[in-house]
Amino acid sequence: MSHEDCIFCKIIEGEVPSAKVYEDEHVYAFLDISQVTKGHTLIIPKTHTKNIYETPPEVARELFERVPKIANAIKEAYEPKGMNVLNNNEAAAEQSVFHLHLHLIPRYGEGDGYDLGWTVH
Ligand code: 5GP
Ligand code: ZN
Repeated sequence: MSHEDCIFCKIIEGEVPSAKVYEDEHVYAFLDISQVTKGHTLIIPKTHTKNIYETPPEVARELFERVPKIANAIKEAYEPKGMNVLNNNEAAAEQSVFHLHLHLIPRYGEGDGYDLGWTVH
């Protein structure tokens, strides 16, 4: 179920090129065009859904259950020291592409170029 004028739907359909990291029947993962760190990857459901508020539980389940597998593939490929998994919802929370996506951001230690700006303890 693709959505007209959605860049990520076009990526899933191969109309817009992308660097594929992983794909199966439910999700597509690819390198972010603007890497905040080496290996910065986006995971998206193949079903178009705007953001977490509008995501049916089944689509969320299919997306989130694949995170460990994809995170480990990135970990093996890039050997980061850690990884942030982030999701932005609505423009006020920095969402810029309105097709649900998770950011997997490998972290390489101090000075890796990415600053989350806050820490949850
Ligand atoms: P958001 O700000 O919505 O959480 O994240 C959207 C992300 O999508 C951004 O990090 C941006 O760099 C990435 N992005 C936007 N357009 C494209 C594209 O055409 N190809 C790829 N690979 N990433 C994109
Ligand atoms: Zn879409």
